[in-house]
Amino acid sequence: MIAKVIVDVPTSQTDRLFDYEIPKEWENVIQPGIRVVVPFGPRKIQGFVIDLEQESPLEKIKPIEDVLDVVPVLTKELLQLGEWLSEQTLSFKLSAYQLMIPAAMRTKVKKEIVLRSDSNQLPASLQKFFQSGDKTLWSDVLIEKQNLKIVQELVKDGVLEVRYQVEEKGKKKTERYIKLVDSSVQLEKLPARAQKQKEIITFLKEIAEPISVQALLKRLETTRQVVTTLVKKGYIQEFAQEVYRDPLAGVHYERTMPLSLTAQQQEVITPILNSLESKEHDTFLLHGVTGSGKTEVYLQSIDKALQMGREAIVLVPEISLTPQMVQRFKGRFGSKVAVLHSGLSMGEKYDEWRKILRKEVEVVVGARSAIFAPFTNVGIIIIDEEHETSYKQEENPKYHARDVAIFRGGYHQCPVILGSATPSLESYARAKKQVYQLLPLTTRVNQRSMPAVEVVDMREELRNGNRSMFSFSLLEMLKDRIDKGEQSVLFLNRRGYSTFVMCRDCGYVATCEHCDISLTYHRTQHSLKCHYCGHEEKMPNTCESCGSDHIRFFGSGTQKVEEELTRVLPTAKVIRMDIDTTRRKGSHERLLSAFGRGEANILLGTQMIAKGLDFPKITLVGVLAADSMLHIPDFRSAERTFQLMEQVSGRAGRHELEGKVIIQSYTPDHYSIELVKSHDYEQFFQMEMAQRKIGLYPPYVFMVLINISHPELTKVITVSEKIAAFLKRELQESTIVLGPVASPLARIKDRYRYQCMIKYRNEPRLLETLREVQQHFIRDINQGQLQVSIDMHPYMFT
Ligand code: ADP
Ligand code: ZN
Ligand code: ZN
Repeated sequence: MIAKVIVDVPTSQTDRLFDYEIPKEWENVIQPGIRVVVPFGPRKIQGFVIDLEQESPLEKIKPIEDVLDVVPVLTKELLQLGEWLSEQTLSFKLSAYQLMIPAAMRTKVKKEIVLRSDSNQLPASLQKFFQSGDKTLWSDVLIEKQNLKIVQELVKDGVLEVRYQVEEKGKKKTERYIKLVDSSVQLEKLPARAQKQKEIITFLKEIAEPISVQALLKRLETTRQVVTTLVKKGYIQEFAQEVYRDPLAGVHYERTMPLSLTAQQQEVITPILNSLESKEHDTFLLHGVTGSGKTEVYLQSIDKALQMGREAIVLVPEISLTPQMVQRFKGRFGSKVAVLHSGLSMGEKYDEWRKILRKEVEVVVGARSAIFAPFTNVGIIIIDEEHETSYKQEENPKYHARDVAIFRGGYHQCPVILGSATPSLESYARAKKQVYQLLPLTTRVNQRSMPAVEVVDMREELRNGNRSMFSFSLLEMLKDRIDKGEQSVLFLNRRGYSTFVMCRDCGYVATCEHCDISLTYHRTQHSLKCHYCGHEEKMPNTCESCGSDHIRFFGSGTQKVEEELTRVLPTAKVIRMDIDTTRRKGSHERLLSAFGRGEANILLGTQMIAKGLDFPKITLVGVLAADSMLHIPDFRSAERTFQLMEQVSGRAGRHELEGKVIIQSYTPDHYSIELVKSHDYEQFFQMEMAQRKIGLYPPYVFMVLINISHPELTKVITVSEKIAAFLKRELQESTIVLGPVASPLARIKDRYRYQCMIKYRNEPRLLETLREVQQHFIRDINQGQLQVSIDMHPYMFT
C-alpha cells in the first residue's frame, strides 16, 4: 500500500501529492486524514495523508517513518474542503489543511497516551508502559511499530486516549501584582531625584487598577529594585493574584427554555425546519432588525437539528463573542456547547477542538475559524452578523467563512442561515435573485419601536460657536440621563482616528522609517508605534524637521474624548473601552459587567461596544463622528457607515425605557447617515446599489486584487506591468483589468507595493490564469524578494 501525502513545505513545487510506502505493520492503520513523518530529501518532515492507493507508478518510493495520529484529524469532508479551498483562494493545499487543525498540534509538544479505564483491559504487550501510572509517552510505546495498531483499536474502544501535553490544567498559575496603597498619594512626597519611582506611581494612578509586576517592568522599562523600594516605603502593595485563563470557567449558566415564538418568528422558522427535516441544503438570509428575536430563531432551529441527532455550527464575530452571547447558547444547550474564541490559550483551544472531534459536544459557537469544526453530521450552520468583514481571513488562505459554510451545507445537505439587521449588499442582492431565501423579521419582539434618531449637523454647531466635540444637543441629553440615573453609550469610530504626532510650526508628521504611514502615539508608554511593522520609538521632544518644540499629538482618540468628557461633565462616571483598556485578559468582561451593574453613567468606546450590549438602562446612544468611516477610500464605506450606525443605535432602548440616538456628522445629508433616521435598510440598499452600478463594483461584478511587492521600486513596477499586460491579454474583453498603480500604502516594512485589480462577471479561465501568474514569477518569489498576493473578493484595499 502507498499513501499520497501533502508535505509540510509551503512552496508551489511541493504543492502536490507525494507517494510514500506504508510499512506492513501500519497497513489498515494509516488512513486519509492522519498525519505522518516522511523523509523528504535529507530531512524528515510532517505531512497529511490525503489518499491511499495500491501501488505507485514511481520506481522507488520511500517508506513512511512515523505516525502522528491514531484517529484522523481531518475528516473525509475536510479533506475535500481543503482541496476546494486551496483552488478557490489560490493558496497551498498545506495551508488549507493547517487552517483546520488547532495550533497546538503544529507545535513540537510531546504526546502522551492516557489510560481512560482499567489497566486489565490492556493487552499484555502494553501493560508495562502503565505500571507507574495511567500516563505514558507516545514515543516510548511507538518504538515498536506494531503497537500502533493496538493503540488505535484501544482508542476506538475508549480505553486509551492520545493527547498533546499542552494543557496547563490543575495548576492554578499565580503572578505577582502591585497596586497603590493610597491612590491620592502626592508625587512631591518622593525625593526629587527618584524619577523612576515617580514614573511608577504616576502610571499606577493612571491605570487605576492592579498590574502584574512583569507587565509593569516591561511597559516602563524599569527594574524590579525600584518596585521593591516603593513597597518598602509603603507606597505600593505587592500581592499574588491568580492568572485568569478561561474567563468563562466556573460560570454557572441559568438554563433557559424555548420561548413561544411570535407570529413573525414562526413564519421564518418554518422553512428552516422544513429544510432540516427534508435534509436539503438551502441558504437563508434572515434579515431582522436588532431585537427582532433572531437569536431565538437560531436556538430553536439548532434544537431541532440536535433532536434529529445532528450537529450545529454557529459563527459570531469575534468582537461580539461576549459572555452575554455565549450565555444564551450555554443557557439553552448546557455542556453540549463548545466555545472557540481568540481569548483562549492554545491548550484551551485544543481542548475545545478535541471535544468536537470526540463528539462530546453537539454545538460549537465560535469566531471565523470555527467553521472548520470537525463534526461529521452537521445539521445546521448559522452565521450571525453575516455582513461583518471579519469573516474574511486577510492572510492566506484568504477565505470567506460564508463560502465555507455553503460548501459544508452542500456536503451535509443542511440549511445555512445568514443573519443580520443590515445584510451585506452581496447577500441581499443574492436573496433578491432568489439564490438565497429571504426571511424578514420586520418588528422588534416586544413591539418596542426602534429608537428615535437625531442627526446633528456639526458644521452648524461650529457656526453657532460650539467648538467642542460634543454638540449642544448631545450634552443636554447626557446631563439629562445622568440626572435620571439612566445610562448612555458614546461611540467613537476608531478607524481614521489614530493619534498621530505633528509639529505645529512646520506641519511635519512623524512617520515610520520602514512604512509609508504615520506613527501612532501611545500615551501609557509615551512612545510612537507603527501599526504595520511594530517599529517603536520614543516620543520626540523637538521636531525632527525644524527643531521646534511645538510638537504635539493630534486626533481624537478615546482618551482625549474621556478627558474632554470629564471636563464638561465633572460629575459623570465614565468607563472607557478601547484596545488600551481591554488588553488584559478578562478586562473586556470586567468593564462591561461594571457598566451593567450601573457603576458608571457613560460607556465610552470604539467598535468593540457596537455589538451585543444589552443593558436595560441604556437610553441614549451618541455617535461622535459618523463621517470618519465614510471618507475612507473604499467602495464599501457607505455600506459600513450605515451598518455601523444601525448597529450602534440598536444598543438603545431595548427594554422598557425608550431609547434615543444622536449622530453627529459633518455630512448629515449623506444617505448612509440620513437613512438611519428611518432605519430603512431597503431604501439604503436601493441607493447604494445605484452607486455600485455606476462605479461597477460588487455585487454587479466580482473583484480580484493582486498585490505585488518588492524591496526595489523599479522591480515592482516592471513585474506589475508584466502582470497587468498578461491579464489583459489572457482574459476576456468584457473583463476589466485596472492598474498597475501604487497601493494606498505604498511601502510596508521596506517593501514597495503596487496593485492590479480585476473586475469580471463571468470569467471561466480566471483561476487558471491567476495560477499562471503565480507560476511565471516563481523563481523570484522563491528567492524571497518578490511577493505576489492574490485576493479573491477582497475587503481590504490597502
Ligand atoms: P436579535 O438577535 O434579533 O437582536 P434577540 O434574539 O436578542 O434579537 O431578541 C431580543 C429580545 O427579545 C431578547 O431579550 C429575547 O430574549 C427576546 N425574545 C426573543 N424572542 C422572543 C419571544 N418569542 N417571546 C418573548 N421574548 C422573546
Ligand atoms: Zn513601520
Ligand atoms: Zn517642525
